[in-house]
Amino acid sequence: MKMTVIGCGYLGATHAACMAELGHEVLGMDLDIDKVHTLNSGKAPFFERDLDDLLAKHTASGRLRFTASYGEAAEFADLHFIGVGTPQQTGTGAYDLSYLFDAVTKLAPGLSRPAVVAVKSTVPVGTAPHVAELLHAHAPAGDLVEVAWNPEFLRESFAVEDTLRPDRLVLGFHIEHSWAERVLRQAFGKIIEAGTPTIVTDWATAELAKGAANSFLATKISFINAMAEVCEKSGANVAELADILGHDIRIGRRGMRPGLGFGGGCLPKDLRGFVTRADEIDAGEAVGILREADAVNTRRRDRVVTLAREALGPDLRGKRITVWGAAFKPETDDIRDSPALAVAQTLHDLGATITISDPQALDNARKLHPELDYAQDPIAAVKDADLLLHLTEWPHFSHIDPKRLATRTHSPKVIDARGTLNTDQWRDAGWITRTLGRV
Ligand code: NAD
Repeated sequence: MKMTVIGCGYLGATHAACMAELGHEVLGMDLDIDKVHTLNSGKAPFFERDLDDLLAKHTASGRLRFTASYGEAAEFADLHFIGVGTPQQTGTGAYDLSYLFDAVTKLAPGLSRPAVVAVKSTVPVGTAPHVAELLHAHAPAGDLVEVAWNPEFLRESFAVEDTLRPDRLVLGFHIEHSWAERVLRQAFGKIIEAGTPTIVTDWATAELAKGAANSFLATKISFINAMAEVCEKSGANVAELADILGHDIRIGRRGMRPGLGFGGGCLPKDLRGFVTRADEIDAGEAVGILREADAVNTRRRDRVVTLAREALGPDLRGKRITVWGAAFKPETDDIRDSPALAVAQTLHDLGATITISDPQALDNARKLHPELDYAQDPIAAVKDADLLLHLTEWPHFSHIDPKRLATRTHSPKVIDARGTLNTDQWRDAGWITRTLGRV
């Protein structure tokens, strides 16, 4: 099948490459001309495992290409996926839907044949009717343009695997057994034939699916982090507590990692967007638990700052702190709402000199925080530091020999905010260690 993917960031570029891998002819479209050039050269403009290989394979095979032209996209196919960003609005918890409405408004004038527009971007419930209205008003094909909702559940760092072999497929339509449903069933044919649970539902349920899933995941992380607060006060060990809880199959251990909490371009803004929308539709009382999940998450960042001041004294002016980690989680270069960078920024504002090391995210971090210092080599980064903070749990960091590292600093103190360093080894090597959630 021929199809386009409008908006080629983490979601869209991956979706486009994976649709080509499934045998389709795909045109990716993005307004960012530099991104289009990079993608056309067979490379991802960001770090995502396996994606470069797929892009190289299918830009070479001729099944995949990218453009910055809406006219070309509208002409190319009659199925258009939309994956533009829906970030948090500045100053409120609401989603900024301007990119989505812009994309739809610019695509519509080129739609002179019947077409299906399938939105993958995460949105507040109630957005689909507005998208349909815009398309019907601006497309020459009018209401022969059908809107489908196809929320995306991929995890960055597993994006290719999750797109090719998703754990479920959700398709939302306004009308049962529509043409749009037939088109999407054909587009996802190989995935459906592989036995992927496929839930066909209405627009509202499909819109809610993604926000509700992320709200649940965020709450699970914040639950164990709330337990970490209790553990710190009571002398208990939150890692062992998580293991004990996780053996209950109704609870499960996956995703329940105590530590510095969640960040990134999805969980924090989806949680806030979900709460804000619930307030708007008079369901605010139902989501009190999500407000608390957000507050627990923010407290984790504050707690690391408090521990740093306990380790170095309240006045951080003139202190040198090394931060391991800039990405919001390992195996990505995505720094959106990164807990590590939030902590680094606060400590910098309190007067400390911060040096950050990260295997993949330094270029992005440097652009956003030019006021901080950077060092690619995590060992060199520790030179002359008064304190080391382990804030993103790249496996790379856990493999560094603490003995060798101790020779680089006059003050071997480490705060492990992710609980993945081997405390015994570090203590044996002469480090004073503190792990978040443990006494
Ligand atoms: P992103 O910022 O990486 O990518 C968005 C892309 O859209 C950018 O390349 C931007 O240039 C492009 N864009 C913006 N406005 C445009 C327009 N009018 N026309 C064409 N292109 C335009 O964002 P992302 O992480 O890929 O997220 C996209 C959407 O997918 C969001 O709604 C997000 O919540 C959702 N989502 C993301 C993930 C993830 O892991 N990143 C997972 C599931 C869902």
